[in-house]
Amino acid sequence: MTQHKQAGLSIQTRVAQALGFIDEQTKGLVPPIYPSTTYLRDADNHYRSGLIYSRDDNPTYRVVEGVLADIESGADAMLFGSGMAAAVSVFQALRPGDHVIAPKVMYWALRNWLIDFSKTWGVGIDFVNTSDIDAIAAAIQPAKTKLIWLETPANPMWHIADIRAAVDEAQKQSQAHPIRVAVDSTVATPVLSRPLELGADIVMHSATKYLNGHSDVIAGALICADKDDEFWLRIRKVRRQGGAVLSPQDSAQLLRGMRTLVLRVRTSCESAMFLAEQLQQTDDVVEVLYPGLPSFADHATALKQMEGGFGGMLSIRVRGGAKAAIEIAARTQLWKRATSLGGVESLIEHRASIEGEDTPVPNDLLRLSVGIEDAQELLADLVQAIQAAHS
Ligand SMILES: *Cc1c(COP(=O)(O)O)cnc(C)c1O
Repeated sequence: MTQHKQAGLSIQTRVAQALGFIDEQTKGLVPPIYPSTTYLRDADNHYRSGLIYSRDDNPTYRVVEGVLADIESGADAMLFGSGMAAAVSVFQALRPGDHVIAPKVMYWALRNWLIDFSKTWGVGIDFVNTSDIDAIAAAIQPAKTKLIWLETPANPMWHIADIRAAVDEAQKQSQAHPIRVAVDSTVATPVLSRPLELGADIVMHSATKYLNGHSDVIAGALICADKDDEFWLRIRKVRRQGGAVLSPQDSAQLLRGMRTLVLRVRTSCESAMFLAEQLQQTDDVVEVLYPGLPSFADHATALKQMEGGFGGMLSIRVRGGAKAAIEIAARTQLWKRATSLGGVESLIEHRASIEGEDTPVPNDLLRLSVGIEDAQELLADLVQAIQAAHS
């Protein structure tokens, strides 16, 4: 198999061609799927292919990991059976007594997991407003803090964390043990921001979302800046021993989805910007939360850190509270009432309903995942639903 570092070429070209992949044996343009779980040992007791057992490694997902590492400007990547599996592996590489800083408003399932994990694993955790660098700086506990976890833009209010500022602060306050910065970049995608280029140590993706893009694979990924970093090697061990790997079949399907990543993300971003601007002027919409709007609190940081767009995710707050919000979702036709995000089809969701009572998310908020459909048609469907719910 050949896979080239296509230095100098754009992300769009590199990902469309899976780094120019050609299968040496057949000259196929698409990587083969290797279902084998186990590999023959040589008669002299060595494993010359380097492959032993597919819980450790598999040539099908190695190709996809190569593409991911490349488009995130990383040194190495690992695929996981889900975004959650990828994220929890990072935390499981910590040791009891370590301390972590995480966002107050973040992907809800991971926040819930973290609260339990911090108790059972004996890891200290502070949830802070990560849009505020002073809040991050103040939460660092010298010699104890080992990880700053950022999510940007963060679900479902789309707060932006300044990655470079957090990295600078982590470096300033690092003592004998470094403070790593990990970024859940699921919503930004490597098309819009590349945290490793801003100094982060690890990037995490729910590859279920934009990377795959077709709502038909559950997958996760981690990409690192330094493949020999002892923290990364510990995470690798968590995957190898815990076995949260992606199947070869799903890896192949993920790569197929990834080839159109740039087109899908660009279209979603353009439509999201259009919808955000239009919805700001729509009656009964109280607030539009979108990093691309000049009125958005973290817009300046978004401008600095994101290139080519502000993402395909936005939220609206509507007059009439939870009741009106749920009714609007009920009256949309193109927008599908479903959780998840980053697929080709647009989704609408009343987040407070799924997050439950202790959610920090306002009750009148609808989360919109903008797909690749016609933007005018998406707007018309939403506007008719808003009007019908308020008539
Ligand atoms: C969906 C999501 C996750 C979790 O990923 P799964 O693939 O569902 O396990 C984590 N972070 C963000 C921002 C997500 O949107």
